[in-house]
Amino acid sequence: MAFTLPQLGFDYNALEPQIDARTMEIHHTKHHNAYVTNLNKAIEGTALEGKTIEELMAGLDMGNMPVRNNGGGHYNHSLFWEILNPTNKGYLTGPLRTAIETSFGSKEQFEKDFAAAATTRFGSGWAWLCAHKGGKVEICSTPNQDNPLMPGTGCGGTPILGIDVWEHAYYLNYQNRRPDYIQAFMDLINWNVVEARYNAAI
Ligand code: MN
Repeated sequence: MAFTLPQLGFDYNALEPQIDARTMEIHHTKHHNAYVTNLNKAIEGTALEGKTIEELMAGLDMGNMPVRNNGGGHYNHSLFWEILNPTNKGYLTGPLRTAIETSFGSKEQFEKDFAAAATTRFGSGWAWLCAHKGGKVEICSTPNQDNPLMPGTGCGGTPILGIDVWEHAYYLNYQNRRPDYIQAFMDLINWNVVEARYNAAI
């Protein structure tokens, strides 16, 4: 069963003014779609066909660049659309709130540390909030389309929140102002979704 481009749970203009509709449409229908198409090509007729995306990531041969780049691209963007969902955004509460306060001191400090990880990722990549079994959370970042599920990235646990800092995610609206895009992203996080991912991961 080939991978397919997931539908967004909202319209392309639903994240305005922080993320414009044109950026969203190109990001989803061109960038993400290309990762899905190229991932399917890369695994067709191989032993990797039929595995879930999580299985592909966890068992990845990091030398397999087509699956690393396009499988990572598919996994990462699928997560990104999910946590950006503007419907019923909720607020940080419960066990995840406690875990963030334990690790970072406060939600405000978490936002500063997360923004710093995203800002200082040189070139293209992602910053992540990951959850570990037992409940601890930590921030890390990865280059290109790598992610914490892949072996040996220096990130561990299950990603529950991620920000895409490739220029294609923000350049039309923000040009080189990555820090402004990162600040805007903070207002778009759907904490209900992040918390559900946290509860499932620990
Ligand atoms: Mn992207």
